[in-house]
Amino acid sequence: MSTHPEDDHSAPAHRGPARARTPDEPPRWRVGIAGIAIEASTFSPHRSDLSAFTCLRGLDLLARYPWVDASSPGGGANGARTWCQGVEWVPLLHARALPGGPVPEETYRVLADEILARCRAEAPFDALLLDIHGAMSVVGMRDAEADLAAAVRGAIGPDALISATMDLHGNMSRDLARLCDLVTCYRMAPHEDVAETRERAARNLVRRLRHGGRPVKAWVQVPVLLPGERTSTRLEPARGIYGRIPDIEARPGLLDAALFVGYAWGDEPRSRAAVVVTGDDAPAVTAAAHELATAYWDARRDFSFVAPAADLPTCLAEALASDRRPFVISDSGDNPTAGGAGDVTYGLEQLLASEEIVSGRLTACYAAIYDPEATRAGEAAGIGSTVSLVVGGRLDTVSPPVPMTAEVAGIARDDVGAANVIALRTGGLTVLVTAQRKQFDLVSSWTAAGVDPRRADVVVVKLGYLEPEIYALAADWRLALTPGGVDQDLVRLGHEHLERPVYPFDPDMADPQLAPELL
Ligand SMILES: [Zn+2]
Repeated sequence: MSTHPEDDHSAPAHRGPARARTPDEPPRWRVGIAGIAIEASTFSPHRSDLSAFTCLRGLDLLARYPWVDASSPGGGANGARTWCQGVEWVPLLHARALPGGPVPEETYRVLADEILARCRAEAPFDALLLDIHGAMSVVGMRDAEADLAAAVRGAIGPDALISATMDLHGNMSRDLARLCDLVTCYRMAPHEDVAETRERAARNLVRRLRHGGRPVKAWVQVPVLLPGERTSTRLEPARGIYGRIPDIEARPGLLDAALFVGYAWGDEPRSRAAVVVTGDDAPAVTAAAHELATAYWDARRDFSFVAPAADLPTCLAEALASDRRPFVISDSGDNPTAGGAGDVTYGLEQLLASEEIVSGRLTACYAAIYDPEATRAGEAAGIGSTVSLVVGGRLDTVSPPVPMTAEVAGIARDDVGAANVIALRTGGLTVLVTAQRKQFDLVSSWTAAGVDPRRADVVVVKLGYLEPEIYALAADWRLALTPGGVDQDLVRLGHEHLERPVYPFDPDMADPQLAPELL
């Protein structure tokens, strides 16, 4: 981790006081916090309307940021974080949704309008922390985050700084890069550095407020569009490329280096990898952006799936034959953490066709099928009863609804007491059916419905790469290339709006220029 003189309050500042501050001193800088965060697959038939979003305002929003002491009026510095003394954090609105299908335009307008209204009501600001994902597809729009950044810029005025904190699976267009003064994103996939990244975005912003002036940015897109399951930082080449970032950003004249993989299931011209490097030394930030972009381009053919990948029948046959238990299969095409609708039944059909499992010789558990109607019916019947239901296949019709006669083996209720998950058991198979689109990346999400994936022979779960808890329990695993709104076989999906050429859609394209632009 690099150190910056701006962290030291006794260091000379270009603007403002060069003396230590006391915690009770009135704030000098007002920094708004706002954003809309969703990853939305344009190939998913699901629509992420207002009901998909969790909206945080006021103290609930400040509680999202561990560096803010939400109990102090004006949101002072929490703990030993002296870097943010003198800052008043002003919570506006943060709206976050599970990845899903595109956001209807009216939903986006409601959320964006509230952010803008709060910006105007709380003005003036010295800066704004824009807390976004970067892969929000809005129906009828091509670059929703740039639209939001432009609107926010209009509301807070040209002088206030904007610092964006993003997911590395966001798409960084030229417009978005131009509208932000500082940009950072995760450096780990799976994202084990979420809190660290947000704090880095805020800290860089406060450093810049102390320092004064605007940093320069070098932006360059890399014409490579790969899924997260090929670009996990657990493996080379992503591990090595991302591993270079701390050393790069520690160079004199640099503030931050952000490398974006981009979002493969957004059929938009902006979708591709990108690099933004910020700092004060234009030649140094340009050189660093070029270096990272070139490293990514040069490695494009070396990115491979995070586990052996094959079609589901092949993965299932391997799992059944293995003596490694539990054997986990990621049913990746309908992964709700990437935007899948969650009700694709393809995996369920395959499991129900397995004599080994249905006979009970082996046990398997499956998460999940999104089906509110079936969930209600199972809850009404109660634990221990036998039900005949038709599940899934209503939203994403790539595979049909599946009839099941099964025992209701478990019910998990949500905060308001209604079932949000039921467990259906037939033979050796237990299937989780959910009332909301839901990811099962935590063991507790399974056990709440009475299913323990650690005790099953085979676990099939709609994920992409395995999130840490599932990864930890897997004795072995495979990535199944299954159909759905986030199909890992990108080329067969039929993108129409990508700017071409882009790898791997144009596998033999010539080497691009990769000349960073100073914005
Ligand atoms: Zn991500």
